[in-house]
Amino acid sequence: MTTKNNNWDYAASVESTAHIKLNKKYALYIDGKWVEPSSKKYFTTHNPHNEERIAEIADANDHDVDLAVKAADRAYKEVWSKISASERGKYIFRIARLMQEHARELAVIESLDSGKPIRESRDIDIPLACNHFFYYAGWADKLEYAFPNQKKEALGVAGQIIPWNFPLLMAAWKIAPALATGNTVVLKPAETTSLTALKLAEIIHASGLPPGVVNIVTGYGHTGAAIVSHPKVAKIAFTGSTAVGKLIQRSIAGTTKKATLELGGKSANIIFDDAPIDQAVEGIINGIFFNQGHVCCAGSRLFVQENVAEKVIRKLKHRMQSLQIGNPLDKNTDIGAINSAEQLSIINKYIKIGIKEGSEFFQSKCVLPKKGYYCAPTLFINVAQSSVLTQEEIFGPVLSIQTFRTVDEVIQKANNSPYGLAAGVWTDKGSKIFNLTSKLKAGVVWANTYNKFDPSSPFGGYKESGYGREGGLHGLAAYLK
Ligand code: NAP
Ligand code: MG
Repeated sequence: MTTKNNNWDYAASVESTAHIKLNKKYALYIDGKWVEPSSKKYFTTHNPHNEERIAEIADANDHDVDLAVKAADRAYKEVWSKISASERGKYIFRIARLMQEHARELAVIESLDSGKPIRESRDIDIPLACNHFFYYAGWADKLEYAFPNQKKEALGVAGQIIPWNFPLLMAAWKIAPALATGNTVVLKPAETTSLTALKLAEIIHASGLPPGVVNIVTGYGHTGAAIVSHPKVAKIAFTGSTAVGKLIQRSIAGTTKKATLELGGKSANIIFDDAPIDQAVEGIINGIFFNQGHVCCAGSRLFVQENVAEKVIRKLKHRMQSLQIGNPLDKNTDIGAINSAEQLSIINKYIKIGIKEGSEFFQSKCVLPKKGYYCAPTLFINVAQSSVLTQEEIFGPVLSIQTFRTVDEVIQKANNSPYGLAAGVWTDKGSKIFNLTSKLKAGVVWANTYNKFDPSSPFGGYKESGYGREGGLHGLAAYLK
């Protein structure tokens, strides 16, 4: 049942799980076959809403990764680099259409395994994942128009490692452009959210894609590390934490491996006094509470112009009271479960630090479900620029708020971060938007909106948020010599 809160109450409307098909146990998808892990070891994936077991997942070791990379290398040399570009495109279109046919099932599994609200997996993650396959399928036989007068060649085997916050969407971001440009793939999903990648392996299998072109190996960090260090992997595409990104850079230093790293963020959402305040409040909510704040580009630092700060914060608190927190499969749910017990304890550690630092603290007054990993939407107001809350990525529904007076002051404050993934600007003035977009050190700057994604638009960071771009033409270039 959806959690009750003070002001708003809805009858539960829980999406059925009767139509989904899940195995009790998942092996590794290598060379077009389901293969037992050589260690015979499996681990459990849980539902973060009720802590129940969902399935057992294979734990791939170095030997399994070696088999997968060799299969991908063989498939690259013998099949994928030899077929025509339009044939490649047809396979990718077929995968996209099959994903659409399974959209409802994929959405439910994503919410079960990750904790994200069904409304988001149904309306955002899964449609966007399909759109990435459609978008890149269209480019497969048009690379000469994407890069006129250049002779572009595939790299070979792409090793791809993804996090748990957008499991299927991140798999699509990685696999679709790699296939369109003629590379083959070994992909490792995050250990808490492997299920939709494994369902994608079933879809890829049903599409008739030649064996070895896409291999899905599940496991922990050591599985990712084995992909990174494999000598036959030509390119690493990684999305995850800055700490692991740094380990990967160290591991590939001195090799010819190409890499794109999409890392952490601490993005600024900036509200000017001439902004449409009600829309801006929705933008703040969407920026930080969307997907429980498990968003690399979450607008986790809010900057409000001083003369409207009182009004914005009052409206924000009021709106937070109406957010429905609870069962991710309930269609009313705005905020689902935190992905894992481990992530919840990280978030709670930051909340404790914030309270101890003494900034004004506010949480929406809701009763959290007794079981599962839940965190109430949280604000810290008048946070110091030096505070841990404004400097470190929390990756949860925790917003730190600062005020500013002038444009120059907010640019300086917003850029004062080791990260630079995204930013939001809310104002009525186009000139102000253009001034800020050119001065903010962020890969994406949204104007009068937040968290909007499209396959044709490149995405990536400045500074410790990583390098390289995914999406759009930039995303193709990253897979070509
Ligand atoms: P993470 O711990 O870095 O894990 C990311 C992936 O790397 C997982 O599949 C993980 O496996 C694997 N991994 C762990 N150690 C490894 C190693 N030594 N070598 C190779 N692979 C290794 O990050 P996370 O906690 O899953 O995800 C949250 C982070 O991702 C946040 O910092 C967030 O900002 C960032 N993120 C960035 C973007 C972007 O586009 N910039 C998008 C989404 C998320 P296990 O899961 O099995 O540990
Ligand atoms: Mg899980």
